[in-house]
Amino acid sequence: MSTLAYLDYAATTPLDPRVRAAVDAAGALVGNPSSVHRAGREVRAAVDRARASVARLLGAQPSEIVYTSGATEANSAALAGVLRAVRAPHADFTPHIVASSFEHASLAETIETLCKDGAARVTYVDPQNDGVVAAESIAAAITQDTIIVAVMLVNNVLGTVQPVAAIAEAVVAERARRGTSGLPIVFLCDAVQAMSTIAVSSAAAHVDILTISAHKMYGPKGVGTMRIVPGTPFAPIVGGGGQESGRRHGTENVAGIVGFGVAAEILFEERDKDVAHALSLRRAFFDALGRSVPRAVRVGADGVPGIVFLRIPSVRGDELALKLDAAAFAVSAGSACEAGKRRSSVALAAVLDEQSAFRGGVRVSFGRFTAQNELEDFVQALQKITISA
Ligand code: PMP
Repeated sequence: MSTLAYLDYAATTPLDPRVRAAVDAAGALVGNPSSVHRAGREVRAAVDRARASVARLLGAQPSEIVYTSGATEANSAALAGVLRAVRAPHADFTPHIVASSFEHASLAETIETLCKDGAARVTYVDPQNDGVVAAESIAAAITQDTIIVAVMLVNNVLGTVQPVAAIAEAVVAERARRGTSGLPIVFLCDAVQAMSTIAVSSAAAHVDILTISAHKMYGPKGVGTMRIVPGTPFAPIVGGGGQESGRRHGTENVAGIVGFGVAAEILFEERDKDVAHALSLRRAFFDALGRSVPRAVRVGADGVPGIVFLRIPSVRGDELALKLDAAAFAVSAGSACEAGKRRSSVALAAVLDEQSAFRGGVRVSFGRFTAQNELEDFVQALQKITISA
């Protein structure tokens, strides 16, 4: 069987070999970072070096970085932590959340749970038919009870970039209206899918809590962060040993954090190169598609260069992904009919008619280690599969 062409970077990026070497080396560190003896101090130093690297990448201060087990925990902890920290202004007050309707499940499902428990109310804002949420629609959904506005930077299904700076303006305007003694309002932004190809520091400058995950930026799985701007109300719901300045308890994933730091350093140095590579891959990909599979339709506005959602009108996305897998190409399927994947369907339903959203398509995502010929071979395979469909 031929080797697999991995074209699913949005699901997870390959580990950069330089990161793997750092993770392996960190595995030999013995101490607990909370221990005061020399072994502990050595590990603490490694964790803090990584913190400085992650902070630099985000244009943040190291003290604002709170390590988590990934973006799922970061998103969920951010929502719950902000709600827990905000004092209700009166007895029958229910905090209000404004969120885009195509947030990742880690945000969406946590919001659903909070609402079911009576801890919050939510207004969802649908993206426009280009896969972008209008900042004006977010602004219009904000009420005097809104405590959290949650909009991702890049949608994980379509790759579309959301207008974070304009949304932040609406949040800042509402904060100013309420005055210093008023109810807080927090802008929470999931930047996971932006990390590998957008200079996130400019978006991060507008956001109160930004969440990222190492395994979407050539780092290890199971580690991520919330960047919390000082002054943002936040009280963790999980208690413990006081790690991460009391904002996320539990012994740190040291090897993962060290790898995260190295991944951040590499990205800081090499992102321009990565972006140029992804743009050139995308150009070649679109050219080959236009020549060989003109029936393939791109879905959503052009977004980050490494994520392309494609559909072949006569073929179902899940069937296409299975056939591509059999031909040794790894891509993700997305459709409105996938059980338990409500968010993916929201993104597709926003940009497609009902029938097309139901049939879905495939998300092709690529980056640092993708070779142009992999995408060209993919297009040939797609042509063969779809020629008789
Ligand atoms: N947010 C987005 C937009 C994602 O794509 C993902 C990963 N699929 C997550 C959050 C969750 O990240 P993690 O895998 O680190 O829990």
